[in-house]
Amino acid sequence: MRSSSLGYPRIGGQREWKKNLEAFWAGKRSKTDFLQEQKSLRLSYLQKQQQLGLDLIPVGDFSDYDHVLDTAVAFGIVPERFAYAGGKVEEETYFAIARGTDDAVAAEMTKWFNTNYHYIVPELTASREPALVDNRWLRLYEEAKSELGINGKPVLLGPVSFVKLAKQYGNKSFSEHVQTLVPLYGQVLAELAQAGAPLIQVDEPILAGDVTEAEWAVVEETYQSLAKLAPNAKLLLQTYFESVADYNRFIQLPVAGLGFDFVAGKEETFQNLRVNGFPNDKLLALGVIDGRNIWRTDLTAVNAELKEVLQVVERERLILQPSSSLLHVPVTVQSEEKIADELKEAIAFADEKIIEIVSLAKVVNGHEPPSLLEASKHALGRLNASEARNNQSVQQEVAQISSEDPSRGLDAPTRAKLQAAKLKLPLLPTTTIGSFPQTKEIRKKRLDWRKGKLDSAGYETFINAEIDRWIAIQEQLGLDVLVHGEFERTDMVEFFGEKLGGFQFTTYGWVQSYGSRCVKPPIIYGDVYFKQPMTVKETVYAQSKTDKPVKGMLTGPVTIYNWSFPRADITEGEAVNQIALALRKEVLALEKHGIGVIQVDEPALREGLPLKRAKWQSYLDQSVTAFQLTVNQVKPETQIHTHMCYSDFQDIIEAIDGLDADVISIEMSRSHGELISSFEEYTYNKGIGLGVYDIHSPRVPAKEEIARNIERALNVLHPKQFWVNPDCGLKTRQEPETVAALKVMVEAAKEARQTLETKTI
Ligand code: GLN
Ligand code: ZN
Repeated sequence: MRSSSLGYPRIGGQREWKKNLEAFWAGKRSKTDFLQEQKSLRLSYLQKQQQLGLDLIPVGDFSDYDHVLDTAVAFGIVPERFAYAGGKVEEETYFAIARGTDDAVAAEMTKWFNTNYHYIVPELTASREPALVDNRWLRLYEEAKSELGINGKPVLLGPVSFVKLAKQYGNKSFSEHVQTLVPLYGQVLAELAQAGAPLIQVDEPILAGDVTEAEWAVVEETYQSLAKLAPNAKLLLQTYFESVADYNRFIQLPVAGLGFDFVAGKEETFQNLRVNGFPNDKLLALGVIDGRNIWRTDLTAVNAELKEVLQVVERERLILQPSSSLLHVPVTVQSEEKIADELKEAIAFADEKIIEIVSLAKVVNGHEPPSLLEASKHALGRLNASEARNNQSVQQEVAQISSEDPSRGLDAPTRAKLQAAKLKLPLLPTTTIGSFPQTKEIRKKRLDWRKGKLDSAGYETFINAEIDRWIAIQEQLGLDVLVHGEFERTDMVEFFGEKLGGFQFTTYGWVQSYGSRCVKPPIIYGDVYFKQPMTVKETVYAQSKTDKPVKGMLTGPVTIYNWSFPRADITEGEAVNQIALALRKEVLALEKHGIGVIQVDEPALREGLPLKRAKWQSYLDQSVTAFQLTVNQVKPETQIHTHMCYSDFQDIIEAIDGLDADVISIEMSRSHGELISSFEEYTYNKGIGLGVYDIHSPRVPAKEEIARNIERALNVLHPKQFWVNPDCGLKTRQEPETVAALKVMVEAAKEARQTLETKTI
């Protein structure tokens, strides 16, 4: 049996990769130096994996930005607006596609399946035929071999997934787009085989989602063609993030090996192995270590399961590996000095996961005794027995949920009347999503305060002064529902995680989110509980400065969960409910202090949707319940808002409705009316704000644009339910453009209001 991995983090333990990219972009580093540093990072990652004892080391997974973009440019797939004339795509063009230039907007970026990694969406146009302009996989395979003597396993994104993830224009069908690429992939694979690659990992993650009959046909045709074009290439067809959609069809594909995620969707895969067996001429690669979460694996348990697998497939045909690329976890827990031993010992980042794989393989191969695996079980056992995971009061509260009615009691129309009487808002009320520009000065003050250079009183005075300033600005603009501005927050999850019980923060636990942008998700390691009010001070302060209602602002339970590394020892439902119950205390504290409008943001709700539709409902039910539990104990006259930053929610509109929020704000300006049309079919009767301008660009919108957006919305929504607000929070914007844009927005709203009022008279 061999040990293997699907990909290694790119960013480096100290984010060296990010720093290199940003220095190059800023013109502070020459291209030669930049490329040299990328190379040395790349080689150091390979060397690390070699030293850790991995048999099959992935090569070509390293990227200067994103692996989907790498695939596109290797085939000369460059959007027309970047003036590309063929040949190998230069770094400058590569980064221009990813980041945009003054003359050409960047390619879109979107979530990589249900992870927090974002890829660059390829644009398949009819104007230029793809061509193999750079066999990067061969280049990187040869590099590993000549520089380090590593006979690596090249990693490619397969043609079917590539096309499925791309935007397809023109009149070519899905199948035609794939067919165009097949000879090019054939050439890549043949050249790799010729160079001596022992195994080539071809990722087809879409096979773990819902696959249509037509798509299966394309998959079969594609791999039959590739088998002919590159008869000597040994392909390992790799899936992840779920069990494969059709096991029996999958195992018949003409490839040398098949890779399964043996963490997500494990039950189905295990069941399939037992019932349907496994072909006796193929390699079986099992992703037994979770590539997406940070817990150590109970290796004794996995070893026991492997005994059963070994009855189906003999040892020589088995490959052990993580369930997905290790891109989704930080580099090593060894650098973390602030985490208590009990917790630290139960954590495995990328390097520790590779060690787990290697140890397990040694034991299965009989080179080490099974006792080697016991430490993992003990470490997890200690953490499970810890006080943090056995908080009686949290567990009792969660246990009581089932006997609780999660609804608000009174229905939405009745609540709306009570709220109208209390808040006395005009038609088409105006508001914002929560944050105002986080200036350099604000970030600097926070850093000073964190470092002890500024005391808490000084920091608070500063924050209050910002709040004062922005309350005044909002009043002057004539907004109807104000916000305090979120100046005290770093990001939406960290701020709450630091104040709730049960969260651990890391020092170097970064993972790539997109390009050079990294995030440091907190670790939910214990039962989550409310310690002290988190947002009350600033909100109440802001409210004391104005007669207009100030909207309280917190991040919802689903978003906090989805943007953290969650526990693996309790169910998702239980973990989300724990957060909900803790946040409920915050909501009630705000209400008690006189805050009559409270927004619970859930921007991550949609992205958490399972890959298979069959699993959507239970996720949505669980998410809706958690949201309801967060807000269901407020009085009916307290107005609950929520916010989501996406517009493609046609599919989940019922769940959105089920949240039963009095007002929801969502993005619209980039959705070209698709969202509007969904309201033609679905009757939504609560308050709703469809963002009337795009906050992602510094551009100040024209009044006519906003007026048009309002008008469009009013074609499908009742004036009494419509709110006027920007698409999302304004923290990334500059102050002058923000004020200017809001001014236009408020004016447009007032004009629309007048028109409506004259109509009704
Ligand atoms: N209230 C948050 C803000 O305005 C919402 C951000 C988000 O939806 N991502 O910044
Ligand atoms: Zn948003």
